[in-house]
Amino acid sequence: MEDLRVAGERLRVAVVGAGPSGLYVADELSRRGGTSVDILDRLPCPYGLLRYGVAPDHLKMKSLVATLEPVLGRPGIRFIGNAEVGTEVGNSVTVDELREAYHAVVYATGASRSRRLCIPGEELPGSFASSRLVAWYNAHPDEPAMTPLAGARAAIVVGAGNVALDLVRMLLGGCTDLRLTDVPDDVVDSLRQAQLSEVHLVARGTPAQAKFTTKELRDLDALDDVDLVVHATPAELDAAAADGATPVAQRNLRLLGEWARRPLRGARRTAHLHFGLIPTEVLGTSRVEGLRLQPAAGSAAVSRVLPAQVVVSAIGYQGRPIAGAPFEAETATIPNIDGRVQRDGSVSPGEYATGWVRRGPSGVIGTNKLDALQVVERILEDLPILPPPRTDRTVPVLLAARGLRPVEWDGWLAIDREERRLGQARGTERVKVRARADLHGLADAAAGSSRPLADG
Ligand SMILES: Cc1cc2nc3c(=O)[nH]c(=O)nc-3n(C[C@H](O)[C@H](O)[C@H](O)COP(=O)(O)OP(=O)(O)OC[C@H]3O[C@@H](n4cnc5c(N)ncnc54)[C@H](O)[C@@H]3O)c2cc1C
Repeated sequence: MEDLRVAGERLRVAVVGAGPSGLYVADELSRRGGTSVDILDRLPCPYGLLRYGVAPDHLKMKSLVATLEPVLGRPGIRFIGNAEVGTEVGNSVTVDELREAYHAVVYATGASRSRRLCIPGEELPGSFASSRLVAWYNAHPDEPAMTPLAGARAAIVVGAGNVALDLVRMLLGGCTDLRLTDVPDDVVDSLRQAQLSEVHLVARGTPAQAKFTTKELRDLDALDDVDLVVHATPAELDAAAADGATPVAQRNLRLLGEWARRPLRGARRTAHLHFGLIPTEVLGTSRVEGLRLQPAAGSAAVSRVLPAQVVVSAIGYQGRPIAGAPFEAETATIPNIDGRVQRDGSVSPGEYATGWVRRGPSGVIGTNKLDALQVVERILEDLPILPPPRTDRTVPVLLAARGLRPVEWDGWLAIDREERRLGQARGTERVKVRARADLHGLADAAAGSSRPLADG
């Protein structure tokens, strides 16, 4: 395959973020011609929210990793983990440094920050942003091991999307035996030993407005020893389905109607689905004791207090600004036109955005592939005008000059081997290693020396 060239030089691209979006860009670039692509990630491990967001009991979705993995091993593509762009941590590089060393920089940094409820009591122990609980059960290196469900008998998840459903399912033990997933033993034990008898999902909108996909909703019915209680009458659900609902909403309403008509099974635990309620206060003195709710406008629901020891807000995600890159606070995305980044209202040559940081947190993983195809088209169209690099100081050179070494492909493979070994011992494909120190230790051993990194 011929090289993609800019003024006679092989195209050199830095992709910031090794989540699905960044990997799809690298994949597509390498299919179009010879390129040098450095994929940076602030974490020692690739795959972004596919590894650290998608619920562990969704084994099929998690297995997408197997289709992305070969991309990172392809000639011309380098994984550079533990390299953060635009922050003050020791192992970071600046946006300007990237722009000086590469023809093009593609931001694929995702949107991993949870939106907050912004109500009194939200800071009480026992109240969590969804990103924290999701990070906990997915063994994210930034989230220490904890026992969030210790002593809790009831939990409330606020939200009306698939992440809220993931949380309800996981709090009730998941729809797959968790020992067959990749979650560490301490999380399996914590979820298995939880004494939750009730988990409530509380949505502000009507059942027709919920953003669930029907498959995710149906997964609630696969939970072991759980009764489902829909707090809406079958007549209300039927009427909503007949009232111009979208095809997805109609399927959801039919399913909810089925559950609302069904007699309870006398299960040990109950998942409640409430609609038309707005949380106004997390109650409690030294820790969460409940959630005060009031009816949303036009809702027939009534004000009430739900007692619970755990409250999780799952009301959406936002991108984080990267120092040195433009950011639109209102949408929490990088301003762009068709993936070309805008600075001060004009297109900035050689800068692109893709995935969740480009368009916000919407769509499924495959949607990011379409985004990546578009961005690669833009890069190829722009080849004649891409600014030539002013230096050869690519990221590994920059980090080495600071006495730092990233986690490279062989380091990740060593982590991967260890996780598979732990998995074999438990009869599953892998068990994740959580602590940064352990991840670095494994990567160091593969590289044959100790890692002089400043971030710990
Ligand atoms: C809880 C949850 C569950 C989900 N479940 C599903 C599901 O079941 N099915 C489905 O289709 N989709 C699911 N999604 C959506 C899916 O995860 C996203 O579509 C996808 O991960 C977005 O990809 P991305 O590459 O844009 O962002 P991300 O996956 O977030 O990847 C961004 C990467 O950038 C890195 N990064 C961020 N900032 C920097 C920086 N400054 N320097 C260097 N690196 C940086 C991050 O570490 C991360 O690895 C879920 C999302 C969430 C939040």
